[in-house]
Amino acid sequence: MALKRLDEQIKTCRKCRLWQGAKQAVPGEGPLHAKVMLVGQNPGAEEDRTGRPFVGRAGKFLTETLAEHGIKREELFITNIVKHASPENRKPFADEIAACIPYLITQIAIIKPKIIVLLGATAKETPRIEGIEYIEVIHPSAAMRFKNMRDKFRQQIAALAKRLQQN
Ligand code: URA
Repeated sequence: MALKRLDEQIKTCRKCRLWQGAKQAVPGEGPLHAKVMLVGQNPGAEEDRTGRPFVGRAGKFLTETLAEHGIKREELFITNIVKHASPENRKPFADEIAACIPYLITQIAIIKPKIIVLLGATAKETPRIEGIEYIEVIHPSAAMRFKNMRDKFRQQIAALAKRLQQN
């Protein structure tokens, strides 16, 4: 299935309650055959407003940290495990995650990334597919808030950059 068609399905999705409080769905963005996919939790207010993933405060911090380590945001496919924002930015419920995961699975099948970077605890629920390397890192919003987490996050992104230089 073409990515564009999938985006259309995501944008009109009514499989859980989240669409009711959101302005729009945020399917994700990046090159069709990105080697690396980034998966976060779900869109926040700025993502809901713009329709783009990781463009709010945490997103800017993520983009800057990647750039500091020579990783270009434009070369990655960036998405979330849940494609709609949630009320008061609460963590998505289990049934919302379950309803949305098939979209992520289809994105993975189309893009065929070699590496999937899981940002934070919720993203860890991403199904593991054989042949793909999964790297778990701290969520940028937690890294932004706490100095010890920030240091750890920087180390994790540095390790990712090193890994990407290998092939
Ligand atoms: N936090 C996320 O997990 N995803 C976004 O797209 C923005 C903030």
